[in-house]
Order: sequence, then structure tokens, then C-alpha cells
Amino acid sequence: MEKMYDIAVVGGGIAGYAAALTAKNLGLDYLWLAPEAFGEKTRAAEYVRNYPAFSGDGAAFCSALETQRTREGVALTRARADGVFAQGGGYFISAGQSVFSARTVVLATGVDLKGDVKGEREFFGRGVSYCAACDGALYRGKTIAAVVSSPRYEEEAEYLASIAARVHCFCPYKEPHFKAENIVVHAGVPEAVEGGARVEQIVKNHKTLLVSGVFFLKDCTPARALCGGLETDGAHIVTNKDGSTNLPGLFAAGDVTGTPYQYAKAAGEGLVAAYSARKYLSARKNR
Ligand SMILES: Cc1cc2nc3c(=O)[nH]c(=O)nc-3n(C[C@H](O)[C@H](O)[C@H](O)COP(=O)(O)OP(=O)(O)OC[C@H]3O[C@@H](n4cnc5c(N)ncnc54)[C@H](O)[C@@H]3O)c2cc1C
Repeated sequence: MEKMYDIAVVGGGIAGYAAALTAKNLGLDYLWLAPEAFGEKTRAAEYVRNYPAFSGDGAAFCSALETQRTREGVALTRARADGVFAQGGGYFISAGQSVFSARTVVLATGVDLKGDVKGEREFFGRGVSYCAACDGALYRGKTIAAVVSSPRYEEEAEYLASIAARVHCFCPYKEPHFKAENIVVHAGVPEAVEGGARVEQIVKNHKTLLVSGVFFLKDCTPARALCGGLETDGAHIVTNKDGSTNLPGLFAAGDVTGTPYQYAKAAGEGLVAAYSARKYLSARKNR
């Protein structure tokens, strides 16, 4: 039978780490799911001067976190969640070829500080996708676009190029390296995604390119795209003080719940969410 975790924590930043660490310390059977521990944003600070008992740059901050993670034995499962779905009083989480089940979930997926491209939100599920592995096959032989946020996503764009007839790749970084001949590189990000019932075109420098779909390949999967039915307020998940959301057993922590975007707030919310998940599990057991 498929393993059912007590708690699945999605997101590899400090909020996700604090939730996983707390879950472990509480003796919960946990899954911590993210492409990497302490990614770009945890490393981003020039100098961290507002986190208790730490002073140094982002790299030193990450190194301190990694040292603690190793010492405490907090295991990370390296995968990106594509979807979180309610099922039989719990949740299943799809991540590429893998599926995980958990009684509770903590979403700690951060926010995209660059914000949405115009039309990105409107056309989600109607030609806009965040998952090449999930939706790429829908565009066999078609012309599509991919907004490739960093070189780490070039492999996913190449995968799309192996299916689609042509992929217009928008790259907001220097010197992209693609091998596929059907990839057309554009500098920067598009201004808008437009269409009718579905995506029809992408706009850049007031010029339009006809495309059937647009993939946004980036670190942060918007919460609305990850979990249907979750109450959000723009980029943020609406939470109560204990991290609970409108979905029973689903909690959220860190930047994804709103401002201030700071390490200490994210870590604190991760801890609270794990405690709240345990309380939820105990209440269900005693029913
Ligand atoms: C340049 C810069 C400097 C900063 N300096 C400071 C500072 O000095 N002090 C301070 O307090 N704060 C600072 N911050 C803010 C701080 O970085 C954030 O508040 C903090 O990183 C939030 O942590 P988080 O865990 O909520 O989100 P994030 O750190 O954004 O982590 C989210 C994680 O979730 C992962 N993820 C997203 N989608 C999925 C998915 N579908 N499946 C699995 N994983 C997923 C991402 O890969 C990422 O690793 C700074 C931010 C920036 C950009």
C-alpha cells in the first residue's frame, strides 16, 4: 500500500525547513519536498542583520542552516510538486513521475517577487502552465513560448522543444545555452499573454507572436496553480493565525502567506504550521 505521511512540507526555503525540522522534533512522520534546500532566496541577502543570533551574508546563512540540517538529520526529498489534491481526508501530491500521500500539508513555496506577466493569471489552465512534464505533451507539433527564469530551467525548455514544433524562449538572464534548433531565444520577459477562450499570442516590444501555450518555468509555483480550491489573495494564501487555510489539514507558512517577507517571520510560521498540523492530527485521532 502507498505510504501515508503525517505531514508533507512543500518548499525548500527557511519556512519549509522550520516546518520539517519541527515536524521531525515532534515525532511526526514527515516528507520535506523541494528541488533543493535553501535555494536562491535564502542565499540572496547581502548581509542578514535582522535574524536573531546571526550576522553574515546569505551564503553564510545558508551554510549555518545546512550545518544544522545535517546535524539534526532533516531529510529532503528532491522534487518539485506539480499539484496538491484533496483525497479521502488527506492529500496526494504529484511531483513529476512520483506521487506522495499525507494526512496534512504545509505549503511554504514562497512568492515570485517579480510578479505575474499580464495575462499569466487569467490564462492559467487555458494555455498557461507551470509544469513542462505535466502539460508539455498537449503541445505536440505546436508553436509555444516558455519564460525561462534561470539557466536551471533550460533543460525543461529543451524537453518542451522535443515535443513542440517551435519554442520561443524568453530569458531574463545573460547567455542562455540551448541545443535544440527549434528554440528561438528572446531576451527579457514578455509584456503580456493574450487570447480569447485560450492563449493565442504573446506580446514583446509591442510585437505579437502566435503561440498555443506559454510555460512559466520558475522557482516558485503560484499557490493557485498548485492547489485548486485554496483561498488566495493575489499571490498569497489566506491563513489564520495558526497557519490553517480554508482547506482542512492544509497549512501555509512563509512569504506565501504575505508580508513582511523576512526570514524570521518565515521560520516562525513554519514552526507554527507544524504544531498546528500535529494538533489537527490529534483531534482527528480522538474523534
Ligand atoms: C535580495 C534579497 C535579500 C533579502 N534579504 C533579507 C534579509 O536580510 N533579511 C530577511 O529577513 N529577509 C531577507 N529577504 C527575504 C527572505 O529571502 C524571504 O523572506 C525568505 O526567503 C522567505 O522564505 P520562504 O521559505 O517563505 O520562501 P523562499 O525562500 O522563497 O522558499 C520557497 C521555496 O519553495 C520552493 N518551491 C516553490 N514552488 C515549489 C514547488 N512547486 N514544489 C517544491 N518546492 C517549491 C522554491 O524552490 C524555494 O526553495 C531577502 C530577499 C531577497 C530577494
